[in-house]
Amino acid sequence: MASGSSSLIWFRKGLRIHDNPALEYASKGSNFLYPVFVIDPHYMEPDPKAFSLGSTRAGINRIRFLLESLVDLDLSLKKLGSRLLVFKGEPSQVLIRCLKEWDVKKLCFEYDTDPYYQALDIKVKDYASSAGIEVFSPVSHTLFNPQDIIQKNGGKPPLSYQSFVKVAGQPSWASSPISTTISSLPCVGEIGSCEISKVPTVEELGYEDIEQYEWTPFRGGESEALKRLRESINNKEWVANFEKPKGDPSAFVKPATTVLSPYLKFGCLSSRYFYQCLQDVYKNVRKHTSPPVSLVGQLLWRDFFYTVAFGTPNFDQMRGNRICKQIPWNDDNELLAAWREARTGYPWIDAIMVQLRKWGWMHHLARHCVACFLTRGDLFVHWEKGRDVFERLLIDSDWAINNGNWLWLSCSSFFYQYNRIYSPLSFGKKYDPNGNYIRHFLPVLKDMPKEYIYEPWTAPLSVQTKAKCIIGRDYPKPVISHDSASKECKRKLAEAYALNQKLNGQLSEEDLGNLK
Ligand code: FAD
Repeated sequence: MASGSSSLIWFRKGLRIHDNPALEYASKGSNFLYPVFVIDPHYMEPDPKAFSLGSTRAGINRIRFLLESLVDLDLSLKKLGSRLLVFKGEPSQVLIRCLKEWDVKKLCFEYDTDPYYQALDIKVKDYASSAGIEVFSPVSHTLFNPQDIIQKNGGKPPLSYQSFVKVAGQPSWASSPISTTISSLPCVGEIGSCEISKVPTVEELGYEDIEQYEWTPFRGGESEALKRLRESINNKEWVANFEKPKGDPSAFVKPATTVLSPYLKFGCLSSRYFYQCLQDVYKNVRKHTSPPVSLVGQLLWRDFFYTVAFGTPNFDQMRGNRICKQIPWNDDNELLAAWREARTGYPWIDAIMVQLRKWGWMHHLARHCVACFLTRGDLFVHWEKGRDVFERLLIDSDWAINNGNWLWLSCSSFFYQYNRIYSPLSFGKKYDPNGNYIRHFLPVLKDMPKEYIYEPWTAPLSVQTKAKCIIGRDYPKPVISHDSASKECKRKLAEAYALNQKLNGQLSEEDLGNLK
């Protein structure tokens, strides 16, 4: 046990030094500071919802990104006279053991709205309060506190972006610069019998045959996040003119957006610092774009989904979710598997799914296309199944944003124009007529002439032979016909919407939410 006052900073997200109020508070007035990260086996366990045996809840690319972020955090802490103490185990049990062993007087961690962390935090806070430990848990993962917005909106989350922006206004902290530097930290006290380790490698965490993986080109960590941020904001003109959904979803050598999402997900980058840097750019240019299309607008989308997710029971499912349309999606596992494994026979869709598996990141519109294709556009498979695949494989996988966007794309909530479907044949072609993106992610089609690259099954056999890609043998035939499947989807959606409207008139919100 260390003598003198000890505090503990529990890192979960917020893997950074800059703009980290929990870390700053933990370091104030303490003789010893214990910076702790607990590797939670929950994410490394086989996912019961996954198809292939042994698939873990978090894909290997995301785990590696996390480990890189921890190595970077450890290095930064060392520069400040501290270091990261890494544990493995059920986080609340590990934490409680550490609090006891080190006689901690102050426990600090960033507030987290994800249901998984909410449940964990209750256990830890209960122990802390029974042991007389001060707890400081500030909101610093988002621009706004979702609770404040819900309160300002009369107890319910705003359900449209426009109403969210109106209620939210300017973030309260934005009038003064946020803190971005810490000059030193209290040293780590005695460790006692607690078993700490270094940041492990993916192999040490039990992932096998790692040679078979293609790794994401994006490296984890705060240093990389700040470097990427600087690269983006140094290009003032680009920031000032940023307009989404304009931008090329097929650009992969230099993506059309910032690719800061994985850094924001793990909190290697503070969204508040990002926001502040964007405001600084805006002050120095003649004119700039505005929400919802601007870069600040993108950060507001993030906060919008966080707020709705926090204020909506059962946000991550159709059943019992009062803002989700009840739609009789099918359970076709073969179609789902074809989509997940990039075997739909539609090169634009399959290339995006390969990028997901290999990189763990795709452009927003590419995500739109595959989510629409799986659900209301073509295959009519339940959005929750697609959500699960994204949740596992994205390096930026984020509970609130992922669920929110799947609700949106499947026309289950927020967006209801189910007649507007992304064509798997023509959408990608507008940006990339030569099919370079497809050729890169689906090398089996690399020699297919551009006339056929989006519909290779229409190529004469002689062309397929010359391109060394026989459809049905080297690359699959389409699993459905887009024309007829999309018509059928629209018909089913129209029926489901009519039924939802009828039931809305007859049933209470609770009854409706309980409908399957
Ligand atoms: P930029 O355009 O540079 O935007 C900057 C930041 O704004 C992003 O990093 C992100 O934090 C935020 N942002 C941008 N677009 C959105 C949006 N539509 N909703 C909420 N926040 C946004 N994003 C995730 O971070 N995690 C997810 O799990 C996730 N799942 C998605 C699932 C589907 C089906 C769809 C259609 C979109 C999903 N998105 C998700 C949203 C969006 O596609 C990504 O945030 C974006 O593509 C990340 O790239 P970027 O950092 O270059 O974005």
